[in-house]
Amino acid sequence: MAVPLLRKLAILADAAKYDASCASSGGAARNSRDQLGMGSTTGAGICHSYAPDGRCISLLKVLLTNWCIYDCLYCVNRESSNVERARFSLDEVVQLTLDFYRRNVIEGLFLSSGIIRSPDYTMEQLIEVARCLREDHHFRGYIHLKTIPDASAELVARAGLHADRLSINIELPSQASLVQLAPQKDAGAIKRSMARIRLQLDDSAQEREKAKQTRSMAAAPAARPPPPRFAPAGQSTQMIVGADASDDRAILRTSVSLYRSYSLKRVYYSAFSPISHASALLPGRPAPLMREHRLYQADWLMRYYGFEEQELVTEDGMLSLQMDPKLAWALAHPDWFPVDLNRAPKETLLRVPGLGTRSVERLLAARSTRQIRKADIQRLGGPATRVLAFVALPDHRPANNAGALLSAAASQRDSGRTRASPDRVQGDLFGTDEPPVVPLPGLAGGGRASSWVQEQSAGIV
Ligand code: SF4
Repeated sequence: MAVPLLRKLAILADAAKYDASCASSGGAARNSRDQLGMGSTTGAGICHSYAPDGRCISLLKVLLTNWCIYDCLYCVNRESSNVERARFSLDEVVQLTLDFYRRNVIEGLFLSSGIIRSPDYTMEQLIEVARCLREDHHFRGYIHLKTIPDASAELVARAGLHADRLSINIELPSQASLVQLAPQKDAGAIKRSMARIRLQLDDSAQEREKAKQTRSMAAAPAARPPPPRFAPAGQSTQMIVGADASDDRAILRTSVSLYRSYSLKRVYYSAFSPISHASALLPGRPAPLMREHRLYQADWLMRYYGFEEQELVTEDGMLSLQMDPKLAWALAHPDWFPVDLNRAPKETLLRVPGLGTRSVERLLAARSTRQIRKADIQRLGGPATRVLAFVALPDHRPANNAGALLSAAASQRDSGRTRASPDRVQGDLFGTDEPPVVPLPGLAGGGRASSWVQEQSAGIV
């Protein structure tokens, strides 16, 4: 009997919720103000939905089908799973995307799929949805396509012409875990696909740069269009946390290697949640959401604050669940503090708990014309108490035990949210406690809000 469309939507949206890499940052700016299409990657009024475990999900986030010929043990859609199955036709996904967009309830499409028949066949189906939206319906909203690891290079190249972002899930931090839990997947094939996408991204960027230079030359014909963009929002991946025995050190090392080798925009971390009729090889309990949160914080610290992964983990290879990794590092390195805010180099300032990247830029600009004093820290609008516990200023020296007091306060604050439970959400990944914009004297403009949001998006300051 045919499954009604709404039932399919319920099944295939639910099946897609385990993929955390739904963020839509970094897409190319497109809109339909010329009335020749529909959709925008920049418009307001976009709705998001939250999964029961607190993740932010941007609709329409669906699978083409939850049938799959693979049997990855951690996956609810694996071949041996007894879940209810459904499959959209390509036209159904296209029409749902257009309908939801017209009703202003989505910002675009996040489309993945179980593997049907073969990787190439599945990839072709995903591409056809994106092609139809772009070419037949002139859809200019955001499209994120999952890339099937073993799909051919030619298909990956086609996918990138329609999608803003491509992603291939690395799934687990080690080859050994993949062999054990997803024996049909091949870490080598996953990395080869990532490498192919990286090459396409590099080629596309070079070609566009060349075309730009040509156009800027006086004799060049003005009307020649720029070469097509390839996945302008880049590629990302996701790792499941807590499905295998890998510690945080191994997870972060894998992330570092992926960022370096494949120019990933983001590595997403997804805390493992037990599934029904699961294999005995999997843990029976969910991984703490706080662990996932700490990994995001550490990831942020490695990419923007100059930390190495081995500095952030404890001897047992794990991140502290009780406090954020930057504060934990500072408390373990009292010899670095107090930092003289008027003399310390930028790299040192970035290590001060409570100072984010934008705050550091503002302090460096301000101190080039005058001395930074205690009132300036309060004017930054961030957690002044935390900063003042670690810095020296002409009118301020921290108390000897300030760090210990902060540590106790942080432990107290976080102790209630270190374990996953049904009524808990994912910490303050998307915290909204935005402070007021207060310009620092001697500094042009405030510009505080965007930096605060960015720094808070990983809960790091
Ligand atoms: S290939 Fe993807 S959908 Fe299929 S079982 Fe593995 S993780 Fe699940």
